[in-house]
Amino acid sequence: MVVGAGPVGLVAALAAHSHGLRTTILEAEDSNRLRPGSRATYLYRETLDQLDAFSPGLGARLAREGVTWPRIRSTYHGRTVYERTFPRAPHGAFGASISQRLQERTMLEHVEKAGIPIRWSSRVGSVSSTENGVTVHLVDGSTIDADYVVAADGAHSAVRTSLGIGMEGPRSDASFVIVDVDEVADDPLPLVREFHYRHPAVEGRNVLVLPFQGGWRLDLQARRDDDVEALQSADGTAAWVAAILGERYRDRIAWVSRYRFHRAVAARFTDPHNRVFLAGEAAHLFAPFGGGRGLNSGVRDAQAAIEAFAAAARDGGDAAAREQVGATGETRRRAGHFNADAAGGALAQMEANTVFDRAAQWGAAFAARWWSRPGMWLDSRVTSGSAERFSPSTRF
Ligand SMILES: Cc1cc2nc3c(=O)[nH]c(=O)nc-3n(C[C@H](O)[C@H](O)[C@H](O)COP(=O)(O)OP(=O)(O)OC[C@H]3O[C@@H](n4cnc5c(N)ncnc54)[C@H](O)[C@@H]3O)c2cc1C
Repeated sequence: MVVGAGPVGLVAALAAHSHGLRTTILEAEDSNRLRPGSRATYLYRETLDQLDAFSPGLGARLAREGVTWPRIRSTYHGRTVYERTFPRAPHGAFGASISQRLQERTMLEHVEKAGIPIRWSSRVGSVSSTENGVTVHLVDGSTIDADYVVAADGAHSAVRTSLGIGMEGPRSDASFVIVDVDEVADDPLPLVREFHYRHPAVEGRNVLVLPFQGGWRLDLQARRDDDVEALQSADGTAAWVAAILGERYRDRIAWVSRYRFHRAVAARFTDPHNRVFLAGEAAHLFAPFGGGRGLNSGVRDAQAAIEAFAAAARDGGDAAAREQVGATGETRRRAGHFNADAAGGALAQMEANTVFDRAAQWGAAFAARWWSRPGMWLDSRVTSGSAERFSPSTRF
């Protein structure tokens, strides 16, 4: 059983299907729901490969429909400090940038093609697990029995709450306003991913500019004394989008949202009987900086959960067979902390709260006039968070 038809739940169901496990998805919302916004735009090559393994053609299609940016650039107070152009490579060779709305639509098509049932308008209130199985309690009073459950019910996971599993980690009050901006189809901007330290056109705020299929995603870091409502208002967004992308983009804003920079990881990823596995935002919350780890690591959670459940089922499903499920949960929890630390490093870099941080950035920006390494450091600290994308202990 999978709870939640967000991207991680859909992927978990496809992974289960590929292992020959019978599964049903329970989703709280109805099938006509709208899920707007680019949200998790970037899928790494490894993620696309995994999607192809779960459902042939899925990763390839997302790679084809997404964009690959051939150039990255960082600026400091408006001056370029790092720039890199990648050699021509096949489309999707490194990954694909495509809005989460389109990702989910494509994943849903694959789920339907695989014949995996989705029960829409089925909100789960809680789960209870025993040595013998899991009972899923829906808010309408009905119950469903399952051998195993992947909880992919998002940041406010009812499954996690009902198991009494808390989230650990700092909840920062750093706020970001994010917008999707439609591209001008007949005269598009060059595809460059940019990070601007203290952009002069937006009163020295930091901003990330990310191309995705059909448009641009901008994340503006609000200052502590900013009126975030004003930055997020129609006039506010139009002004700063025009200042960054140009006047012709002023009226092309398609979606506006905002987020706080949280870094929280569930205290456990499995229940005491190793029959319920938390995946995706039910298990961890990272801001997109430091490597875009949210959805990419959610796909790995789903894969790990299903492989562990499939192995336990093959080995008879008793407590001993399920121990590996718990161990896998612990591995994913550690990966969650690794990813949270990477996001935290990116935030520390963007906030530059200490004199030392500010001096290091100023020094790197100064040295970047002659050497590429300091500029690369400025770029990668914010956009990758680390040289490694995922914890070496998990090989992800
Ligand atoms: C504004 C915004 C910007 C973001 N930007 C980025 C980004 O740039 N990069 C990045 O990597 N990530 C980003 N994310 C996060 C990304 O969207 C998530 O990582 C991704 O959606 C997680 O998928 P999920 O399937 O775990 O959870 P969700 O997408 O939240 O899906 C959970 C699903 O479970 C359903 N559900 C909830 N409760 C229940 C219940 N009780 N019973 C049954 N069903 C239930 C929900 O309706 C939903 O369909 C962003 C998120 C937001 C909101």
